[in-house]
Amino acid sequence: MNQRDSNDNLSIRERPTKAEAEEAVRTLIRWAGDDPLREGLIETPARVARAYTEFFSGYVSDPMQILATTFSEVDGYDEMVVLKDIRFESYCEHHMVPIIGRAHVAYLPDHRVVGISKLARLVDTYAKRLQIQEKMTVQIADALNTVLQPKGVGVILEAAHQCMSTRGVHKPGTSLVTSRMLGSFRDDPSTRREFLSIIGNGAIGQLPNT
Ligand SMILES: [Zn+2]
Repeated sequence: MNQRDSNDNLSIRERPTKAEAEEAVRTLIRWAGDDPLREGLIETPARVARAYTEFFSGYVSDPMQILATTFSEVDGYDEMVVLKDIRFESYCEHHMVPIIGRAHVAYLPDHRVVGISKLARLVDTYAKRLQIQEKMTVQIADALNTVLQPKGVGVILEAAHQCMSTRGVHKPGTSLVTSRMLGSFRDDPSTRREFLSIIGNGAIGQLPNT
């Protein structure tokens, strides 16, 4: 996975200038059929370039760094840790339109835990990139597994893909659910059941309005 991360980050080193990015937006505006020089659009390329640094901020944050601080003083806590309903905004790497959904991240600690805000930041780090949901699910689970070396990890993502609702097959209201179960979450049905019951049956289905 480190390999994959460094590959993702390679593209950053060959980053175009801001002026080049803005020129590309002007080209897309013309491709859409409008005039990038009309008053309402004149500042748009600069705004889009700025928005992109926010949309894709995940390329410049290092998931291993985020998870670097772990705590081993857990007073014998050895039950499941679950952070559910982590809203995320990602971008489909095939159409560059939003994927909006929720992540549920769980692990069964083996002496070490991580601050809960770090779990949310981990999700964001992988979300704020051009993604496919399946890959993002694996990346989150594997990063947690590598750093914490817990007894098990469970990650479930459910999201609406705007490339499904606003173009192509035009199917609003669909959501894609992906999961990755490692260790006890994969091998022990009761652990997996506990995770699914904690996130709740209602969790899968009702997505934020996109
Ligand atoms: Zn797509």
